[in-house]
Amino acid sequence: MSSLLSFCRDCSKQVQSSQTRDGRCLECQVRRSVADLRDEHARLWRKRERYRAQQANVDQIRRQIARVEDRMAQRIKELVANDREAADHLARELETARGQRYTIKGV
Ligand SMILES: [Zn+2]
Repeated sequence: MSSLLSFCRDCSKQVQSSQTRDGRCLECQVRRSVADLRDEHARLWRKRERYRAQQANVDQIRRQIARVEDRMAQRIKELVANDREAADHLARELETARGQRYTIKGV
């Protein structure tokens, strides 16, 4: 079996052609597919911190965040068949979402 190599058009990483879709590596496919949810996650996270600072009830926001995480997991599963790999991708995306809230903070 031949494994042709190509470069991902987003991150320029060299990957096996069989693993790319639209010229993108799996990681970039995942990143793109959950981009809107990741922003939503970051937004809710900031909202929760604001509420918490005001001693307000954050139960509802916590449920919203959990729902967004579920949807992210769902989308990732559609791209990544392997459960453990899918979990890894999700963890990375959530990390990014949390990092995002720090970069946006104070703006
Ligand atoms: Zn890539």
